[in-house]
Amino acid sequence: MDSGLQAYSWVNGEYSIRSEDDPSAKLIPIINPATEELIAKIEITSSEAVHDIVSKSLHAFKNGPWPRADSSERFAVLSKAAGMMRERMHDFIRYEAMQTGRPIREMRAQLARIPEWLEYFASLARTMEGRVTPFKGPVVNTLTRHPLGVVAQITPWNHPLLIATKKMAAALAAGNCVIVKPSELAPLSVLMMGKIFQAAGLPDGALQIITGTGPETGKYLCQDRRLAKIDLTGGLGTYRAIAPAASQNLISITAELGGKAPVCIFESMAVGRAVQAALFASFIASGQTCVTGSRILVHDKIYDEFTALLVERTKKLRIGDPTLDDTQIGAVINKAAVERCTKFVAEAVSEGGKLLCGGSPTTVTGKGFFFHPTLIETSATSSLSCNEVFGPVIAIIRCTSEDDMIDVANSTNYALGASVWTNDFAQAHRVAEKIEAGIVWINGHHLNDPSSPWGGFKESGVGKENGIEAYESYTKVKSTIINYGILPTWFDDDVGTS
Ligand code: NAD
Repeated sequence: MDSGLQAYSWVNGEYSIRSEDDPSAKLIPIINPATEELIAKIEITSSEAVHDIVSKSLHAFKNGPWPRADSSERFAVLSKAAGMMRERMHDFIRYEAMQTGRPIREMRAQLARIPEWLEYFASLARTMEGRVTPFKGPVVNTLTRHPLGVVAQITPWNHPLLIATKKMAAALAAGNCVIVKPSELAPLSVLMMGKIFQAAGLPDGALQIITGTGPETGKYLCQDRRLAKIDLTGGLGTYRAIAPAASQNLISITAELGGKAPVCIFESMAVGRAVQAALFASFIASGQTCVTGSRILVHDKIYDEFTALLVERTKKLRIGDPTLDDTQIGAVINKAAVERCTKFVAEAVSEGGKLLCGGSPTTVTGKGFFFHPTLIETSATSSLSCNEVFGPVIAIIRCTSEDDMIDVANSTNYALGASVWTNDFAQAHRVAEKIEAGIVWINGHHLNDPSSPWGGFKESGVGKENGIEAYESYTKVKSTIINYGILPTWFDDDVGTS
């Protein structure tokens, strides 16, 4: 795939190269959203091929060395893969920026940390110990953890490498065989991981990376009853599409879904700092992250001053070529994203919202899918305030008190991320405790670490990425109960044994 325009699934330790002339190969383009140029073509993996790949993975799970590797071997492979990722970082960053349209400086900062996920889960593989539980009498139960089997990981386009690496690291550390289906919009950096893991010593068959669309390849994969688990990051609609078959087949799902994160700004914050906070929370990745600060809730006492300064600063954000170091706002992922942003702006205004800045698409040197960073003053119940845009269209909501702020923060069906900005220590804790969200930051936003469980409540998902929780979700626990006392004599009288 490094050589040019076609990218292939990684199956059993090699790229499954298909000729473009093969009439049975269904290919789709990968487009650079900032330039509209063709970067590569990928194949939509057919249902027969998906079936075959699951069979290969099952074979690797039942007969291959990875599920039987001891923890020091798993530690060594994952740690080595982390080092090799760092050596190839330049290429990863280039692919990631090209396929997502995100500014290169964001990609540098994010990707520099991704190898830490491999190192963290490598050390969990080495240190997660079993447990012994005491029974009544001369009996103990030893609890041991075992890999689940063949697991499917369905990943989105917005942080392609970060999210796939989080999931692969946890699953492989626990000894599973993994099939990743990256997003059809941005699969290239994830495909590179096949070679990295192989060079680090991962046995062939322990990791397959397959290309294709969600409603085709993703669906075929998720309907396979031989899977042991599905780990999805994506939209609620996608979860609803895969959940019925998974539930029918008794396959557990971890789901990291959408969000509508509130950025709660209290009156004790200096206005300049509060504006910096909001810009960071709301416009990283052009608002295309699950925890984008897409609702800025501001206390009445500083609302007017804050909003005036935020609008002034937002208008100055530099939209541009994502490959340039000084670009602050890159592209949105495709034309559909531009249309979605446009629709949300029109709807918000028709519901009485006040457009403060932005509100329209743009291009860079006549090309690409860009949208001006947009702020709309609106009510807590408007469609903009209640639905995920996944773009740089941000609601600003005036709040009159701490309780009002908490009510508004909790008023959507989402509950993934939230941030509380205040200089009042007691208030910070009080509010953080009452906000319904899987991740609450105090005087921060977007902070993430491999050790810190990540996942939402309500319609934002089930289960966790990161941390011990993620590792455990990729294992099954077995109780082995040992009786070291006398044999049971319960029926001795009845059967007359001596
Ligand atoms: P998406 O749901 O469209 O696609 C995600 C993945 O699911 C892709 O690989 C896609 O091909 C696949 N897919 C789609 N339909 C499928 C089906 N019927 N069966 C199987 N697979 C299918 O999401 P996206 O546009 O790539 O990403 C944006 C969404 O992801 C947003 O809602 C965002 O909030 C969410 N997200 C959540 C987190 C989190 O940590 N909670 C992180 C990033 C993104």
